[in-house]
Amino acid sequence: MGRLDEQTFESTVAAGCPGCGSAKVEIKSFIDRRLLMMLADPNDAGRWVHDGEKFIDGTYEIACAACKKVVFEHPDCPRCHAEGGLARALGDTSRLTIPKRCPACNEIELLALALVPASARYGGGETPKPKPLAEFGDPGHHVVAFACESCDAATVTQKCPLCDAPGPLRVRP
Ligand SMILES: [Zn+2]
Ligand SMILES: [Zn+2]
Ligand SMILES: [Zn+2]
Repeated sequence: MGRLDEQTFESTVAAGCPGCGSAKVEIKSFIDRRLLMMLADPNDAGRWVHDGEKFIDGTYEIACAACKKVVFEHPDCPRCHAEGGLARALGDTSRLTIPKRCPACNEIELLALALVPASARYGGGETPKPKPLAEFGDPGHHVVAFACESCDAATVTQKCPLCDAPGPLRVRP
């Protein structure tokens, strides 16, 4: 369970802005993005692979889309809930580095899974489309794991990928 349970998330979003009355809110969340890597560089723009529960679980800010009034924010790490971890999650670059080649079989293509901060607008009947707030290599864009499809070798970070707190990590929904 994240800092926001599903019920609180839904009632916060449904309430809209108590300041200006706008029904649209802008939600920021750390969500899963899959990237195809070639010699340690992204070979595609990546695509989201999260679901709705993970989007809620990673939410760290909800603000009015019109007047920017913040209706929810939490300074703890959205992944492991370490106190004050959000600043490190947003400010640090990825601690897990993707090698140019698979360490086991030398393949040059690797699949990477990252947790990436995104913003999405909710309310007013729009289908929310998350936009990444950080690109590969930027602060906030954290590689969680990489894997090779040729030999099935996989490397997963054992610490919190967002704030570097020691594991074991809580289970996500
Ligand atoms: Zn407002
Ligand atoms: Zn953390
Ligand atoms: Zn391999």
